Amino acid sequence: MQAEIRAENKKPEAKKKFDVVIIGAGPAGYTAAIYTSRAKRETLVISGILPGGQLMLTTEVENYPGFPEGVMGPDLMTNMRKQTERMGAVIIDDEVVNVDFRRRPFKILTNSEEYEAEAVIIATGASPRKLGAKGEQEFSARGVSYCATCDGPFFKNQEIIVAGGGDSAMEEAIFLTKFAKNVHVIHRKDKLRASKIMQDRAFENSKIKFHWNSVIEEIRGSEKVNEVMIKNVSTNKEETMNVGGLFIAIGHEPNTKIFKGQIELDDQGYIALKNHTHTNVDGVFAAGDVHDHRYRQAITAAGFGCMAAIDVDKYLSENKKNS
Ligand code: NDP
Repeated sequence: MQAEIRAENKKPEAKKKFDVVIIGAGPAGYTAAIYTSRAKRETLVISGILPGGQLMLTTEVENYPGFPEGVMGPDLMTNMRKQTERMGAVIIDDEVVNVDFRRRPFKILTNSEEYEAEAVIIATGASPRKLGAKGEQEFSARGVSYCATCDGPFFKNQEIIVAGGGDSAMEEAIFLTKFAKNVHVIHRKDKLRASKIMQDRAFENSKIKFHWNSVIEEIRGSEKVNEVMIKNVSTNKEETMNVGGLFIAIGHEPNTKIFKGQIELDDQGYIALKNHTHTNVDGVFAAGDVHDHRYRQAITAAGFGCMAAIDVDKYLSENKKNS
């Protein structure tokens, strides 16, 4: 799918200066580009190494409005990309390696070019932390998921695992009891990191079983996951569990490495917003999971993209950039 997306891509234009450069091409980046292009702002989207973002790694999406029968994640992103191109934005499949937000216009350096922008929208998202277990990548979107809200309803009446001991893991485990027969929390320690209130809720739920001091060694299956091997790190005892799925909830890493020292980040590395979608640097905006560690949905990311684009247009108008 990625190859197909790339093949449809326009050749990089000779133009190097844009009204707005959008870094990242998930739902936030594409939506922002649709809005800035329609507002007649010359727009460049630099898509990064995974054009389409996390939805390229998922299968069916049932909770994005407008698709009564659901839509495959990669198809949704291909459509967003086509819509973005139709609005006139330039999209390049390249990776941003450095930025300079101290100078105006802003400078954005990719692997192959340097671009200038009057305004920048950062929409680089966040990546779920991986366990690194054998079979994790192979069964990704085939029983291994990083989002209970997205994929929980596909696991009705099944035995499933949630890996992790933080608030996300408890929230996901509780949510998943709506669908699953039982939810097995696999945690590497003998106590949870989650807040007391979340722990209490999880302990009170009779469908949630805790497996302490345990790590996931291997994920196995054929078409989809059907068994997971766990190991107790205190006793070294191994156990094979027959499960239909595995939700990994061990935290996220915001994709902000290249912005360190250039804009303000919070203590977890997410972009700190000041006023709606504005960062602490005038003219630099952020949208989607790169600042939002609460909702993390395609639809909320798209909404933030729209907001950032409207804020950019206003910023450019107020600063008398072309209208
Ligand atoms: P956290 O970093 O809080 O927790 C991650 C959990 O995953 C920890 O239990 C950690 O184990 C475990 N873990 C990390 N790496 C591995 C690994 N390689 N193998 C096995 N286990 C691993 O992340 P969350 O996503 O849970 O939360 C992020 C932030 O968002 C937190 O501040 C949280 O409070 C907040 N949040 C709040 C919610 C709420 O209030 N409703 C809901 C969701 C998130 P260990 O404990 O051993 O370090």
